[in-house]
Amino acid sequence: METFDVAIVGGGPAGSTCAAFCAEAGLRTLVLEREKFPREKVCGDCINPASWPVLEKLELAEQIRNRPHGVLDAVEFIAMGGQKLRADLPRRDNGMISVKRSLFDHLLLERARTVGAEIREEATVIALDRTAAKNWKIDIVREAFAARIIVGADGRNSTVARLRNLLPRPERERVALQAHIPLPRDFGDRIVLQFLPEGYSGQAPVNDSELNLCLVGTPPTISSLRNWAEREFKLAAEQAWRKNHSRRRSPTCNTRIHSCSSRDVSRAIVDQSNRARGRLIAAVRVAAPTS
Ligand SMILES: Cc1cc2nc3c(=O)[nH]c(=O)nc-3n(C[C@H](O)[C@H](O)[C@H](O)COP(=O)(O)OP(=O)(O)OC[C@H]3O[C@@H](n4cnc5c(N)ncnc54)[C@H](O)[C@@H]3O)c2cc1C
Repeated sequence: METFDVAIVGGGPAGSTCAAFCAEAGLRTLVLEREKFPREKVCGDCINPASWPVLEKLELAEQIRNRPHGVLDAVEFIAMGGQKLRADLPRRDNGMISVKRSLFDHLLLERARTVGAEIREEATVIALDRTAAKNWKIDIVREAFAARIIVGADGRNSTVARLRNLLPRPERERVALQAHIPLPRDFGDRIVLQFLPEGYSGQAPVNDSELNLCLVGTPPTISSLRNWAEREFKLAAEQAWRKNHSRRRSPTCNTRIHSCSSRDVSRAIVDQSNRARGRLIAAVRVAAPTS
């Protein structure tokens, strides 16, 4: 079985960024990603300006500026009654932009590969165990790897966190739908956050021709939000939507969960009981400003 210094589960922004930094630091790094990239993902596609220093460090900032993206100069809040409140965003080189996740995540994953991380796509992690040598044994279908450290960067329904009984307790159950639709004429360079009785909608142009449209509700309200969007944006009945799945939660154990360092980069979940014995499990994911 091949042994790595660090195995990262999930090749989204958190996993790829972590992998690039680990590989650049000379660690033998493996990324196991369930999907084949490029792929879209339910997201508003907006990049928080706080990400620019990380993107500069990854030597990706220029590439991202040269690819199709939206430049956003205002946020408009629309209340249920239709009242509008507009807040201007700073208009500068390192301001707020929007980029489709198929593009953004792919650039990050390729950067990790370029600097030496081994990337395995279509590799779904299904089991985790400790080996006699105190490494982690990580199983994907029909193959297994060993690593000294494992990083769970596999998103909100993290398999790593679930397998280690580290998922936080569920709070409110939300469901989201997302689509890229034709950009309405005169939409402008704005993000819209629109509050509706059943939930809310986020809208942002991602290039010259497409609008990112997100709907966030609860399992009982999501279909009426979709009906609202079909009317509001005159969408065809066959409009395709991406959906994020409800959380599948198992009960949490007594593990203490620590949020560490910058909120917008990562959250590390440390298994204190393992750490006391000199072992560390880190579950890292990019924290969402909006989710
Ligand atoms: C409706 C909505 C709108 C949002 N809008 C924004 C926004 O505008 N701006 C913003 O910054 N954030 C936004 N977010 C939040 C953002 O999407 C997340 O913060 C971000 O995707 C987290 O990145 P990540 O790398 O931690 O996880 P993810 O992007 O979820 O990546 C996890 C990766 O792990 C892989 N994976 C999962 N399970 C396994 C497994 N068992 N084995 C191997 N691989 C696995 C997945 O395929 C995926 O590629 C939004 C979220 C939602 C729901």
